Amino acid sequence: MPLRASVVGAGVVGLYTALALAGLGYEVVVYEAVEPGAGASTRNANVLHVVQPPPGRNRRRLARAGARLHRICAERLGYTIMETRLIIPALTPIEEAMLPVLGAALKALAPHATVKILSRSQALKLEPALTRLTRRAVMVDGYGVVDSRELLKTLVEAIGSTGSQILKGTVSRITPRGLQFGDGTLEEGYSIAVNAAGEGAARLAEASGAGSYKVDLIGGIMKLYSGPSLESIIAPFPRPGPGKGGALIPQLDGRLLAGPSWGSPKGGLWRRYFRLLSEPPERQVAEVRGVRTVARKRDFILTTQYTPGLRAVHLIGIESPGLTAAPALAVEVLKALGFKDNEFCGMRL
Ligand SMILES: Cc1cc2nc3c(=O)[nH]c(=O)nc-3n(C[C@H](O)[C@H](O)[C@H](O)COP(=O)(O)OP(=O)(O)OC[C@H]3O[C@@H](n4cnc5c(N)ncnc54)[C@H](O)[C@@H]3O)c2cc1C
Repeated sequence: MPLRASVVGAGVVGLYTALALAGLGYEVVVYEAVEPGAGASTRNANVLHVVQPPPGRNRRRLARAGARLHRICAERLGYTIMETRLIIPALTPIEEAMLPVLGAALKALAPHATVKILSRSQALKLEPALTRLTRRAVMVDGYGVVDSRELLKTLVEAIGSTGSQILKGTVSRITPRGLQFGDGTLEEGYSIAVNAAGEGAARLAEASGAGSYKVDLIGGIMKLYSGPSLESIIAPFPRPGPGKGGALIPQLDGRLLAGPSWGSPKGGLWRRYFRLLSEPPERQVAEVRGVRTVARKRDFILTTQYTPGLRAVHLIGIESPGLTAAPALAVEVLKALGFKDNEFCGMRL
């Protein structure tokens, strides 16, 4: 009898985890309530981040490892990463005076990255679409942009090629005997269950007796424009307040993404983005809304639940930069399950 594992949720984290378990020889079944990519995994800004949360957080460690693993997995599995950089222009004398402080702060949050202060002409050479009001700029190298729909499709195909399956089903509880579904049926025969249910993960963990987790669900809005097609991610000079703030982000299909704006959409924020460009953006072609699942202390929570028949791992609060961290979260799940010397995307870890 082959060893069987189950994963709840076919987002980028669940699919990467399923692939990692299949790599260990498990026959994996992924249960998805709606369809693969129905959650935040296709409703995000598509950025592989470099600047990370402050030290000491899982989000920082796993996003850094994930960004590295994405480069290996993209080559192995066949999805595209557009390599790019972040540019933050200083548009006023005050912002220009603050630029060295901003550069030092970014370097502290991304010690492994190249962080440089650019002259006006260097900045405009790297990003010709920047506003001519640019006085100087700070640049952080090493960013990536993916097409999360292409990534999800690639992961679904890769899982199919291992003989594992993605089935439709809403899991209401993980029990020592197996998975229980909304209609009361029980699916037995798994020795591993991974809860990667995104927005629904805290609820599922609690229903499964894995503890109680408070999460906040915060909406984010992104607007997509037909152009201009940028070379770099351009962000406004940061202002005090929570969150990374949004940016103008070039997409793989040539469109321009503005955002995300968190909470209520404020007209002023969009105008702030467009002041960064020398020409106004082209036609707005879409608006995308996603939900960020934010847990206590704004960190990723990974908790295990061992019973004689079943080892379960619950992933809670997988907010931004969860897309960046996804392959590293899969490796972290293997470690939590007690597997050592894991192979991932053809690489021994
Ligand atoms: C607006 C926005 C912008 C973002 N931008 C970035 C970015 O640029 N870079 C970055 O790194 N991160 C970004 N993020 C974060 C990133 O998108 C998420 O961290 C990541 O997609 C989480 O993936 P996931 O697989 O954990 O969850 P999800 O993609 O939400 O997947 C969970 C899946 O589980 C299914 N499900 C839920 N409950 C059940 C159940 N009971 N039974 C079966 N299935 C169930 C859902 O239908 C869903 O398909 C952004 C997030 C938002 C909201």
